[in-house]
Amino acid sequence: MIGNSKKTQMILDKYDIRAKKSFGQNFLIDENILKKIALSANLNQETGVLEIGPGIGALTEVLLTHSQKVLAFEIDWNFIEVLNSELKSFSNFKLLNKDFLKADLASELDYLADCKRIIAVSNLPYYITSPIIIKLLENENGIEEFYFMVQKEVGERLTSEPGTKDYGSLTVLIKYKTEARILFPVSRNSFIPKPNVDSVVIGLRRRKIDLGIKNEANFLKFVQAIFSQRRKTLYNNIMNAYQITRKDIEDIFPKLGVKPDVRSEALNLKQIAQIYISIFEAPK
Ligand code: SAM
Repeated sequence: MIGNSKKTQMILDKYDIRAKKSFGQNFLIDENILKKIALSANLNQETGVLEIGPGIGALTEVLLTHSQKVLAFEIDWNFIEVLNSELKSFSNFKLLNKDFLKADLASELDYLADCKRIIAVSNLPYYITSPIIIKLLENENGIEEFYFMVQKEVGERLTSEPGTKDYGSLTVLIKYKTEARILFPVSRNSFIPKPNVDSVVIGLRRRKIDLGIKNEANFLKFVQAIFSQRRKTLYNNIMNAYQITRKDIEDIFPKLGVKPDVRSEALNLKQIAQIYISIFEAPK
């Protein structure tokens, strides 16, 4: 098994690899955590897994063993030789040496099209946690569940509630698209090299809630806009982003029971949707 400290160090030495900070490389070396991820994700022979950033393959090996197929994107070509060689006994593996953020996800996911259930699992490169989650969630893509290792503070932010300082546009997107929870903590000692912070594994399950929104893309842009300047009020953020008169908003807020000086982080998903609909989609 790749995921223990001795074996990981052996592989790093054998292929003369040094972890690159610029690619957010921290390798999992705790077999218990690998098992816990596999258990939480309910892997089975009908599950197709998308993995982002397999690294030297500790998690990938577990995923390949317990699921139908794995499709993995790895940006660092140094790992391609390692993965192809260390995981050569698996025929249910497609490895792409590509930047996940630039990849055409819809066409690449064809590889998993014959799997009954498709999930995404990743020990996420911390420097692009948000863009990866946005790319996966914004559009329908057949992926129903997501299991991500993230920094503890990030996990808390992603699952936070209105009224907390952590609550922001990504939290709202996650609430809109998924049911999200923190599954378990992971100590910083579970990685080589050891990061400065602890981590958590979060689980997201896609869901559809009908908030009466017609143009979802516009709604998601609105969510971005109202959190763009956190020190400003909701009102000022809206005025900044859109060509709207003060009067338009002054008419709408009281009808929805929203105070004129409210800040976006005080609003729950339903309230944000109501404000959006009243401004942009209500019959005039
Ligand atoms: N999965 C391995 C593990 O758990 O030990 C490595 C996880 S490490 C935190 C993140 C991995 O993501 C690295 O292998 C890194 O090279 C890769 N990565 C970073 N940016 C990427 C990108 N834009 N697209 C694909 N992979 C990326």
